[in-house]
Amino acid sequence: MDTTRRGFLSAASLSTAGLVAAATSISSLMAETAVAAIPKSKTEKPKEELEDFVYDIENGSEGYVSAGGTAKEATVEEFPVSQSIAGVTMRLNPGSFRELHWHSIAAEWAYVLEGKVRTTVISPDGSTSTDDFEVGDVWYFPKGHGHSLQCIGNKPCHFLLGFDSGHFSEFGTFSVTDWLHNLSPEILAKNTGLPISAFAKMPKKELYIGTGKIAVENKPANINTNIPVSRSSHKFRMESDAIRQDFKGGYTKLVSSKEFPIQTTLTALRMNIEPGAIRELHWHPNADEWQYVMSGKGNVSIFGSHGRVKTMPYNKGMVSFIKQGYGHYIENTGTETLKLIILFNSPVYEELSLNDWLNSNPGQLLADHFGLTPDQASSLTKHEKGIF
Ligand code: MN
Ligand code: MN
Repeated sequence: MDTTRRGFLSAASLSTAGLVAAATSISSLMAETAVAAIPKSKTEKPKEELEDFVYDIENGSEGYVSAGGTAKEATVEEFPVSQSIAGVTMRLNPGSFRELHWHSIAAEWAYVLEGKVRTTVISPDGSTSTDDFEVGDVWYFPKGHGHSLQCIGNKPCHFLLGFDSGHFSEFGTFSVTDWLHNLSPEILAKNTGLPISAFAKMPKKELYIGTGKIAVENKPANINTNIPVSRSSHKFRMESDAIRQDFKGGYTKLVSSKEFPIQTTLTALRMNIEPGAIRELHWHPNADEWQYVMSGKGNVSIFGSHGRVKTMPYNKGMVSFIKQGYGHYIENTGTETLKLIILFNSPVYEELSLNDWLNSNPGQLLADHFGLTPDQASSLTKHEKGIF
């Protein structure tokens, strides 16, 4: 067909018999080409393949390694599909600290996986807060708020950090030593009120993770003891205080901005899926979904329209990303509980369950859609089951 048209074009072009005739032929040819360029059906449109949406954050890179600890990240560099959320898995040894710093383009969220962490954060109103975090506790520091993290006690700590921008880089943030070691001693002396000689041992480059004396677990005297043990403005005890929902095959614990008001750009979900169970087919109309596998293994499957369905396996230490509005399900394919930490880039949690929706349509319509008998159509799963 193409060859025929091309042949006709050259014949017309070569013709010297009459310009008008040639022009007519060419214009009718162009009309024909324009019509022919419209695909006969949607399936003929070129399809963009679905990108990979699983990345091994714990083993995918060397990351940062020092005497004080390690950090490995999943930003758009390592995990291009995850444009709206970045993750860092960080470990600090006893006595080590992540130095004073802030993030210019992202808020920081974290979930403590092992050990105990003490944070101190400053807000624009000048108020500061120091809080201690244990396993299952989360923190949230709004964009730009200065903070420090310290491993307290004699055990190493491990925490998962989430940022509300995939373009954020944990290694490109604003660290206090990175700023101060580049200033003149005169300016430092003037700004701090200390003599110039006081800065003789100042680090010569960005510290990032520093080592120091092991911090006692008792709160220092300058910490406000009136803050309730369970929560403060930056802290939420996710494992004990989140909104729990139980299902036949597992459970979820939800922390949105309703429960944790400072968490204005994210919603967090802890999810357990038991062996053999699935998190049913659903989608989120208002947010991208980012997952970290705490333990176990499973399959994540996404539907991105145009017949594009892609299923990828993941296991402990991997992250996954599902774009807003993409249909998906998760299946536990292992023999132990699949435990997930999930972030959504919205302060409000929304989901649509396929089972809920199917059930709300007229039975005959469903029967005609799927080739079911009226009996089968009426015995479709009646409502959302969550995990089963
Ligand atoms: Mn930080
Ligand atoms: Mn989901």
